[in-house]
Amino acid sequence: MPGTVSLCKHRFPIQPPLGSLGRPGDCSSCGATWDAVQAELQRQTEALIVGSSHDGNCPDCTRRRRLFRFQPFDKPWTPIGFEEPVTFLCIDCWNTATEADHDGFNSLLGAL
Ligand SMILES: [Zn+2]
Ligand SMILES: [Zn+2]
Repeated sequence: MPGTVSLCKHRFPIQPPLGSLGRPGDCSSCGATWDAVQAELQRQTEALIVGSSHDGNCPDCTRRRRLFRFQPFDKPWTPIGFEEPVTFLCIDCWNTATEADHDGFNSLLGAL
C-alpha cells in the first residue's frame, strides 16, 4: 500500500498566534501541516468521487446523467468527526455546488 494513513484525528489551531481561520497552523497532535492534510484529503476525495460515480437522475436538474458524489468540504471549524451530507449530482450541478461551497467559505472569511 503506497502512503500511510494517519490515525491522528488532527486538530488544527485557528487561534493566533498558532494559526488563523484562513490559515490554520500545524496539527497540535502530530505536527502535520494543513496543506499536506488537505492535499491528501483531496486525493482520497477524488478517488471516492470517481469510484462511486454512477448513472441516475440528478436531483438538481432532474436530467438522467452520470452522477458524482458531492460533499461540502470540511471547514476549519467543522467539528471533528462531523460528516457533511452527501448528494450525487451531475457534473454541471457538481461544479456549481462546489463553486458555491468555496464562494460561501471565502465570503465568510472576507466578512471576518
Ligand atoms: Zn494530526
Ligand atoms: Zn444536474
